[in-house]
Amino acid sequence: MYARVIIDIAHANVDRLFTYEIPEGIAVQPGHRVLVPFGAGNRKTEGFVLAISSETDVEQLALKPILRTMEPYPALTEEQIALSYWIAEAYHCLLVDALRLLIPAQMRGGRVKEKTVRTVRLRPGVDLAAAKAALLTKTGVSRAPKQTEVLDLVAQAGTYMSTADLCAFVPGASGAVAALLKKGILEEEGQETFRSPFRTAVETPGKALPFTPQQQAAFDGIMQSVEQGGGTCLLYGVTGSGKTEVYLQAVARVMQEGGKAIVLVPEISLTPQAMERFRSRFGARVAVLHSRLSPGERYDEWRRIRLGKVDVVIGARSAVFAPLTGLKLIVVDEEHEPSYHSELAPRYSALEVAAKRAKLNQAVLVLGSATPSVASYRRGLKGIYRLLTLPERINGQPMPQVEIVDLRNEFRAGNNSIFSAPLHAALGQCLSAGEQAILFMNRRGYSTFVSCRGCGYVVKCPDCDVSMTYHKLEGVMKCHYCGRTARIPKVCPECGKPYLKGFGVGTQQVEEQLAAQFPGVSAVRMDLDTTRTKNAHEALLGRFTRGEAQVLIGTQMIAKGLDIPNVTLVGVIAADAMLYIPDYRSGERTFQLLTQVAGRAGRADKPGRVIVQTYTPEHPVIGFAARHDYPGFYQYEIAMRRAALFPPFALFLRVVLTGHDEAALAEDAARCAERLRQSIEDALVQAGGTAQELLLLDAAPAPVKRREGLYRYQVLARLARTKHTAAAVRAAYAYHDAHWKAGMGDVEINPGSMV
Ligand code: ADP
Ligand code: ZN
Repeated sequence: MYARVIIDIAHANVDRLFTYEIPEGIAVQPGHRVLVPFGAGNRKTEGFVLAISSETDVEQLALKPILRTMEPYPALTEEQIALSYWIAEAYHCLLVDALRLLIPAQMRGGRVKEKTVRTVRLRPGVDLAAAKAALLTKTGVSRAPKQTEVLDLVAQAGTYMSTADLCAFVPGASGAVAALLKKGILEEEGQETFRSPFRTAVETPGKALPFTPQQQAAFDGIMQSVEQGGGTCLLYGVTGSGKTEVYLQAVARVMQEGGKAIVLVPEISLTPQAMERFRSRFGARVAVLHSRLSPGERYDEWRRIRLGKVDVVIGARSAVFAPLTGLKLIVVDEEHEPSYHSELAPRYSALEVAAKRAKLNQAVLVLGSATPSVASYRRGLKGIYRLLTLPERINGQPMPQVEIVDLRNEFRAGNNSIFSAPLHAALGQCLSAGEQAILFMNRRGYSTFVSCRGCGYVVKCPDCDVSMTYHKLEGVMKCHYCGRTARIPKVCPECGKPYLKGFGVGTQQVEEQLAAQFPGVSAVRMDLDTTRTKNAHEALLGRFTRGEAQVLIGTQMIAKGLDIPNVTLVGVIAADAMLYIPDYRSGERTFQLLTQVAGRAGRADKPGRVIVQTYTPEHPVIGFAARHDYPGFYQYEIAMRRAALFPPFALFLRVVLTGHDEAALAEDAARCAERLRQSIEDALVQAGGTAQELLLLDAAPAPVKRREGLYRYQVLARLARTKHTAAAVRAAYAYHDAHWKAGMGDVEINPGSMV
């Protein structure tokens, strides 16, 4: 028998199948990871077996044997092998890079191991009473009290008990255990354990809530798709409309019928609170995958899934690759979230991968959101997705009332504080009523930039083309791109006058002014600076959820998933901050963020109030968000995109080039643009289209022109979406492969970030 093997080396020259002989006595299946001799020196190298055959046209003498399997079971399922071929094709990456997505990184090179613990039990057939009696002296006292205690404990347990547990009850029990083992009263076994990411066992199993009629209709829609053997459902439901309850019961139903499910949520909303909801419903049959797991925990969760001990996987983006077999349902919550697109190559979209896996398994994909992406909602309206709607909050709770405050009026009225008069009054009321508030400010630090009032000079990072942010608590300016820090110069480097001052508000300043205007109030600040350590996120949120802090100040990391009954006020300090980012999605992102943040208010029986401060109250996006009018926003946005020919009516294609020599880089980029234009236009014409389908192709400095000391230029193309687009994209990839040189990035299609 012969195995077709992909060597685990990421290089285009070896990214193909090599044939190896399977020696007698080694059981190898497709999906096994194996160790093979590779290259001239026959270096022992890891690889993936993708196929087995009984014949080969490779000469017998040239054949090398597989040395051994890395795991006793195939690491990849048959479906994952098919998926990896699709990923390599769809994202134009090496097959081995696709395969690497499918297993925990630490597994390669054997960097994580199974953990075994030493366990003991009473040897079957041993008479406990007799064994204990033998330990007694004539007067009836134990000669070895520890051994007696251990015996009692083990007998009570009735099964294997770890020596670690025994030592917790009987200090220094190991000597006693050794003695009892020697006497043959106990017997031991090394037992494999799974490191659990959970600290506590499930306490109270959660029960399914009786559905509202709308939830029932949505659930029925999903189940109809399940019965039909596939398809995509878009569950558009306002915040607090009970989407999660629908997911939970859909998963439960699928499980009853023997199927398995994956639930994807944005990393940031994988709060202990959210995970608990799933665990309490499904208990030990749930695995969780997120970035805070240790490598050992991640490996063990992955193994539990692969070995079939799990029916439901809940996790962030990469959990879409979870090795479940018998997959029947994939849920993607908050489907509009940009974090579902990987920023690292392979630049996959978890939504697209989920759709592919659903197809391979005849499973159903459910996309859920209070603010669906414009592209998804369009498919819903066109009937490509089954559109399911939850238009109201649970129990007819009203949507929170949103007030827009015009900051220009505040300034005219002489209010220089970052809290407008209405927000100040509302905060005062909320705090004195003993309720809680959330203040949203989507920028960290104290002030967003430092500038000279004399000449207008703005301090920039010497390595990056961005202004430095002032961090008052640390007493430094920081570059948010490269992390470089510097002190504020005493005088302006440009004009020499001592007029340097911070401008623009960040979270630290909100915290400071809150403390100044509401003395004694307790606040927690959550941003990248306060959540760097492993459990900081959890600890800070815990303080707020338990009511130990009255105000939560934070960036977008607090916008999602929080469900705290006592929060009655949400203040958005500056809604414009995100509206003017140079990206065609800035309107969509602003609407999404405002809606998510507003949705944190009034989730229980107390009504919620939201105050949005802005310098442009007339902007339609802010108006739609304030009225909770997603359909209205969608109509506005899609009309804009159609008129401007932006996605989903077009597709961006970008190559970033970096280098130290700006002039050479500019020249390179111009040449690259010209050749790329040729390739794309030729491909369009050959495919039966016209060169006019290429709407734009331009070489220019990237919006952030310098980063970590490197200049950045981009070649940006925009293509009308037609049936010839795929041919144009293939041509771009081919051009890139043929002309790749140092400093040239990947071809990015609709890059997640355009800066
Ligand atoms: P969403 O995911 O749409 O934001 P959730 O599923 O979190 O909404 O539901 C919001 C709140 O309503 C939660 O506290 C949840 O427990 C509760 N809830 C959901 N469905 C029901 C129901 N059918 N009956 C009673 N309460 C419900
Ligand atoms: Zn920098």
